[in-house]
Amino acid sequence: MILGVVKNLMPGSGYSKLRRLYRRLNAWLYRGEQFHCPVCGGHVSTFKPFGADVAVARDLRMVSLGRRDASMCPGCASKERDRAIALYLTGRSGWFRQGPRAILHIAPEEGLGRFLRMLPNVSYLSGDLSPKNSPTPAMRRIDVTQIPFEAGTFDLFICSHVMEHVADDRQAMREVLRILKEGGVAFLQVPYSPILKETREDAAVTEAADRLRLYGQADHVRLYGTDYAERLCEAGFMVDVRGMVELFGEAMVRKNGLTVEECLFVCSKGQSTMGQIDGVK
Ligand SMILES: [Zn+2]
Repeated sequence: MILGVVKNLMPGSGYSKLRRLYRRLNAWLYRGEQFHCPVCGGHVSTFKPFGADVAVARDLRMVSLGRRDASMCPGCASKERDRAIALYLTGRSGWFRQGPRAILHIAPEEGLGRFLRMLPNVSYLSGDLSPKNSPTPAMRRIDVTQIPFEAGTFDLFICSHVMEHVADDRQAMREVLRILKEGGVAFLQVPYSPILKETREDAAVTEAADRLRLYGQADHVRLYGTDYAERLCEAGFMVDVRGMVELFGEAMVRKNGLTVEECLFVCSKGQSTMGQIDGVK
């Protein structure tokens, strides 16, 4: 909130430095042993509240949308989904040591971007349709429905909370599949309802107020239901849908501030080469 106001007043590198300073101050203010952030490695007393309280999110028990009391890491601003991805990748460190691994990160989150760049043997690229306005500035302009790379370029693709903004999300999914190497993995996390069987979308709904009411956010073009994995499969992915407790165990879910109801959609081009969890239970 504070940073959002400052960003408008002070764009550019000055803002980036101020943001880093603000995060460091937050990490110190919220230091503690109770919780751990696998994205920045920080130990914190609590995760901070995040998200707007919208009726549809409450009514449809939406995951990763709406008000959450403990969501954002004070030290790196990671959300639950970022920490889940980081924990999953930490558990597959052997896959990175076999490197080199090419990563494409769309709409790059600040903390997760830093985490990915620090993994061994990676070449990292970030992109966004509006590079200056993404969660943190992206390295180049990339439209996910028309990704400017040859087929089979990347080992890992990360793009959270983007598909619900894209008019032709099926085309975007096919593009992600195309640019992945055989056995490569994509994380395309979205907000969704675990009790809505069919994705809610209507091309005739274009007003911001209507989108907010129906989808939970004024710039969303749909609200995914439990059929999200089917849509990914139709695009050609192999999709491994895993619950947090199943992946990491209850203690890790609590400690790392993950959402019990959230699933990780591990999308791969053919059989994933990441293999079994080798570090984290
Ligand atoms: Zn963190």
